[in-house]
Amino acid sequence: MLDSLREGLQAAVKKLVGSNAVDEKVVKEFVRDLQRTLIQSDVNVKMALAVTERLEKRALEEKPPAGVSKKDQMVSVLYEELARLLGNEGGLHLDKDKKSVVVMLGVQGSGKTTTTAKLARYYARKGFRVGVVAADTFRPGAVAQLKTLVSTTGAEVYNDEKEKDSVKIAKAGVKFFEGSKNLMVIDTAGRHKEEKGLLQEMKEVVGAVKPDYTVLVVDGTIGQQCFSQAEAFHKAAPVGGIIVTKLDGAAKGGGALAAAAATGAKVFFLGTGERIDDLEEFNPTRFVGRMLGMGDLRALLEMVDQAELQVDEKTVQRMMSGKLTMDDLMYQFDQMKKFGSLKKVLEKIPGFSGQLNTQELDKAEGRVKVYRSIIQSMTGDEKADPDSINSSRLRRIARGSGRSEKDVRELLSRYKQMKSLVKSSKGREFRQMMRRMGEQ
Ligand code: GDP
Ligand code: MG
Repeated sequence: MLDSLREGLQAAVKKLVGSNAVDEKVVKEFVRDLQRTLIQSDVNVKMALAVTERLEKRALEEKPPAGVSKKDQMVSVLYEELARLLGNEGGLHLDKDKKSVVVMLGVQGSGKTTTTAKLARYYARKGFRVGVVAADTFRPGAVAQLKTLVSTTGAEVYNDEKEKDSVKIAKAGVKFFEGSKNLMVIDTAGRHKEEKGLLQEMKEVVGAVKPDYTVLVVDGTIGQQCFSQAEAFHKAAPVGGIIVTKLDGAAKGGGALAAAAATGAKVFFLGTGERIDDLEEFNPTRFVGRMLGMGDLRALLEMVDQAELQVDEKTVQRMMSGKLTMDDLMYQFDQMKKFGSLKKVLEKIPGFSGQLNTQELDKAEGRVKVYRSIIQSMTGDEKADPDSINSSRLRRIARGSGRSEKDVRELLSRYKQMKSLVKSSKGREFRQMMRRMGEQ
């Protein structure tokens, strides 16, 4: 799905990651690559420029958080900006304990009937009792098409071949399913003698059944035109959410999604094929993560935030004033562990993995576990002043923690090492050392 957008984005990121140092030239080139890719996907030019300008500004002005490289920062900013372009989180969250009525709107051929059946299947699987109302009285064969599609879903179809008034059918359908179903999906006509008539009919259907959700189905192959189509419908009946279809093989799909999001309505689902199961819940952040080839990038973003905590200035100050306790040391180990997990996430990203050695990281984490148990066997006085630990105390601590004397000595030597570094170096170097230790 959206192969060219995905490939374009990933190529731009790969190029960025492969560059030697991130200077203004590299940032500008990255931005140009992204612009080209977005515009090729039919993202509205203004929107594409807005995204890349913000990205450029942030890349040039914002300092990466402690422990995060400029490149990682830029990728996470890109991720944020793209997720923002694609709108708010949200989805169609229906409650089984309530009756929900959903009306499907959209022009003919957008995929309303197919999507109605897909929704019936999707929610029937989740345990909803689904009723589908065939209110397309305009197109011959519409009822038969819906029945065939829905037949495999376990949902029930209401139709009335003799009734030509779609508003009446919609109303009668809702009444028919009242009490037995907790989800009703109403498929409407997408064509009329004239567009005004279509919008008027939709307005009447919506007015008559008062749905909980008015869902607009738009064809993803029309790209940014989705915007004006959605606007036209929105004027007739406020659109609660959008489903963008045919994203399988839609070269303009990226533009369609961005345009749908730009209307302010949430994109509920994506149609990704003709089959009944080709329906995906839409989640902007997860979607962007997939486009960028990074799995669930939310985790990465959270870790970038956490890495900012990595060096707590207060602790550093305290330690630099000459005091260093075992608790401080443990605190620093814990921070490094967080940083270690961040590195592991980064490692999954193509291009970032080169310098990292997961085995070493695992080893470092294993050591921290050992150190923690040793520190737990120390008395308060020993923790506050580790230099007071003589050989008999050392033996006691080893026995108490179930670790070897060698382990205890190793921890003490780490402590001494850090203490002398704290004494001899400025804060900056100290922080750098912290970082190096995280990789050890
Ligand atoms: P309606 O007129 O809005 O009810 O549209 P239909 O549901 O009849 O769909 C029109 C055409 O689009 C049909 O041939 C569907 O199979 C096709 N279609 C619908 N959704 C998708 C999709 O997500 N992907 C693809 N490839 N085709 C789709
Ligand atoms: Mg139809």
